[in-house]
Amino acid sequence: MQTIIANGYSVFFNEFIYIYLNSILDKDVYSKLFIVVDSKTSEYCLPNFIANLATEVPIEIVEFESGEQFKNIETCFEIWSAFTDLGADRKSIVINLGGGVVTDLGGFVASTFKRGIEYINVPTTLLSMVDASIGGKNGVDLGSLKNQIGTITNPNAVLIDTNFLTTLPQNEMRSGLAEMLKHGLIQDKSYWDKFKNLSNLTTDDLDTLIYESVQIKNNVVSQDPTENGIRKALNFGHTLGHAIESYLLENTEKNTLLHGEAIAVGMILESYISMEKSLISKEEYAEIKAVISEIFGFVEFSQNDIDEIIKLLIHDKKNEFGKVQFVLLNGIGDIKINESASNELIFKAFEDYKV
Ligand code: NAD
Repeated sequence: MQTIIANGYSVFFNEFIYIYLNSILDKDVYSKLFIVVDSKTSEYCLPNFIANLATEVPIEIVEFESGEQFKNIETCFEIWSAFTDLGADRKSIVINLGGGVVTDLGGFVASTFKRGIEYINVPTTLLSMVDASIGGKNGVDLGSLKNQIGTITNPNAVLIDTNFLTTLPQNEMRSGLAEMLKHGLIQDKSYWDKFKNLSNLTTDDLDTLIYESVQIKNNVVSQDPTENGIRKALNFGHTLGHAIESYLLENTEKNTLLHGEAIAVGMILESYISMEKSLISKEEYAEIKAVISEIFGFVEFSQNDIDEIIKLLIHDKKNEFGKVQFVLLNGIGDIKINESASNELIFKAFEDYKV
């Protein structure tokens, strides 16, 4: 698969990743290599990754516990301290080997350590391959509020080896699919159409779908790296999706949803709002709801859940001048940004979602 050129860095795939990595590590420019992993990628991905490295640069491994609940400033503190204790300097380079939690947190740690050192993302989940590792956004959660602290700092490169997916649990694969569906809905109807029948999917098909998803995300981000306009498209499904994710994280007696699972619900709800605003047809809404629910099923929300989720919208990062902002669909494959929705309309979207 051809390398994708992003804004100041490149995305390499499969056989090319170790060629690239070993060549840059051979150039005598890095004092030390710090590989940041979580407890699962340490077990499932690190041995294979290390086996493919051919370098004299000293390597240090820094590990933290896997899970969104560890994507916080306390974990950053531990990693900054470990870097310091292990002698990291401004010529050190960080490799984030893991899912979106590792690439988000590791990217933030690298972009702030000694005012910023170089880093590379090696995504190991479907979600991080098609979305989280691309585009330079990094950060951590503040309590249950998602991604409140962070920077936009591009990596030196993103290296995608789809072989890592062989150990990824099914629910995590599904979670990644949500962001791929989003890419079709916001930018490319023909890409969306490919998801209408997934039953005969082969590994090669998946590699192609991943590649195309990275192209779509990169295309959006390249036009608007700092999110003043079109990049907001990537937030489709995320205004309500993040509020749902935060609400379930906060209420420990409830089952949490994976990021992509919450976004899947958010995309159905925000498609309903798009339909009510006459931006998509009833047929398009019915198709979106059917395709997404076929993959993700439905989540139950009580009246109280919905009230609390709506209250959380006030903390959304995308809000401007205190107003909650939505990205809505404008037909399948196009969007409208900076849209509003009344609480009454959001309630109606949840009502329709239930049936
Ligand atoms: P994750 O990083 O928690 O990974 C999911 C689980 O899979 C974890 O338990 C992890 O340890 C495990 N895992 C990772 N790779 C594995 C492998 N190859 N085999 C077996 N297990 C493996 O979650 P995620 O879904 O990858 O990412 C979600 C995060 O990404 C969220 O925090 C979200 O906010 C963030 N995100 C960021 C962006 C962005 O632009 N920066 C975009 C989308 C999502």
